[in-house]
Parts: sequence; C-alpha cells; structure tokens
Amino acid sequence: MNRKIIIAIDGYSASGKSTLAKDLSNKLKYTYIDTGAMYRSITLLAIRKKIFHSDLWNIKNFLPFLNNINFQFQWNNKLNKTEILLNKENVQSEIRSIKVTNKVSLIARIPEIREKLTVIQRNFGNKKGIVMDGRDIGSNIFPKSELKIFMKGSIDVRSHRRFEYLKKKGKKISYEEVKKNIFYRDMMDLYRKISPLKKSTDSIEIDNTFISPEKQLNIVLQLIENIRFCKKNKNYI
Ligand code: C5P
Repeated sequence: MNRKIIIAIDGYSASGKSTLAKDLSNKLKYTYIDTGAMYRSITLLAIRKKIFHSDLWNIKNFLPFLNNINFQFQWNNKLNKTEILLNKENVQSEIRSIKVTNKVSLIARIPEIREKLTVIQRNFGNKKGIVMDGRDIGSNIFPKSELKIFMKGSIDVRSHRRFEYLKKKGKKISYEEVKKNIFYRDMMDLYRKISPLKKSTDSIEIDNTFISPEKQLNIVLQLIENIRFCKKNKNYI
C-alpha cells in the first residue's frame, strides 16, 4: 500500500498553486488545505470588525476574535471543490472579493496572526495525506514535508490568467488593477520579516509560464512516483 505524504506548494500570487493543489488532491484523494483562504478569512473578519477603519495596527483590539477563531474545510459535491468555513460560516466566495484581496497581505504580515495560523495549519497535517498551498508551507509550516514545490511564472501571464478568471466570474476589474495587486502582494510577501515567500533549497521549482495545468500535474505525479519508489527501497530523499 502507498504511504501518504505531505505535499507543500508555495509560490508567487496567481502562479497556479491552487489549481495544482486541487488537481493533486482529486487524483490522490488527499485533503486540500488552502492557507491563503485562511489569511483571507481573517482579513474578512478584520474588515467586518472595522479594524481597518479605525485602528489598523492595534492588533490588541483584534486578538479576542483571533482567540476563538475556527476553520473547517468542507467538500462541496455540487461544485466539486473544497470550501472554507470561518466559525461555521461558508465564506468561500466572500473572501475572493477585491476588498479582501487588496488588504490580505497587510494582515499576513502581523506576527500574532501568523503564529495563530501556524499552529492551526500544523494540526491539519497530523494525519498526512494532505496537499497544502501558501507562501511558507515548505519553509516554515512543514519543513520536513516529503515533497516541496515552488511555483512561479511571468507577471504578465499570471495577471492575464487571473484577469480572465475574474472576468468570467463577472468581477468588474481592469487588467492593470489585477497586475498591480499581484505585484503588490508579491512584494509584501517577499519582503516581510516573518516567514517571507522564499524558495527552500530542497524544493522543486516549476515555472509554468508556458506549461498547461495538465502538464504541471503530470510533472508532480511523476515526482511523487519517484518518492514512493525511493521510500520503498528505504532510500529516503
Ligand atoms: O494564496 P492566496 O493568494 O489566496 O493568498 C492570499 C494572501 O495571503 C497572499 O497574498 C499572502 O499575502 C497571504 N498568505 C501568506 N502565507 C500563506 C498563504 C497566504 O502570507 N501561507
């Protein structure tokens, strides 16, 4: 029988991490954990609690909400995808709003928030058999995960893909705004003090500027086969 592993996928904004993670979770019957959705949910909560209107940097006002926060990932049979519940409320579509997207990288820099999510995310990995995507999964959350992927792609291709996706969803946003937001989030993630976006030395880089989702899935499935083969032979990578 195949032993289950943890797959950590990190990379730049809109670089196809979640597409790859979803494809892998369907193929391998692994649980998909979208850590960006967790940072987005906390941002939504902060907006609702008006933290951004009055007291952005006074995290003390926000801490009581953080203490009782609860996340679940639930499979939606109709839509054939996993959705996030924040304190039992399905917030999957609200966290994709432009308002949340514009603020999330500010929230993701706050140490108390990262500490809280680090604990929650590590707990999800207790059972193995998960694929988790984000910015610091291979470098910080699961530094010993069996497979680490780091994804990148040209900013124009990433912006174009995200713009087309948002247009299909009926969102009113220009290509320039999408590109500006992706660039801004990349910079915020790369240059923050705590757990910045960084490729670990043992991760495998995929530049998918010219690669289709099917091709990137096949590359990673082949990598998993190699890991399984090596483990069977007690030859750990
Ligand atoms: O993955 P997604 O684009 O939905 O993530 C939203 C934001 O959350 C990112 O732009 C990043 O600032 C933050 N994030 C993070 N660490 C993670 C996942 C997401 O800082 N592990």
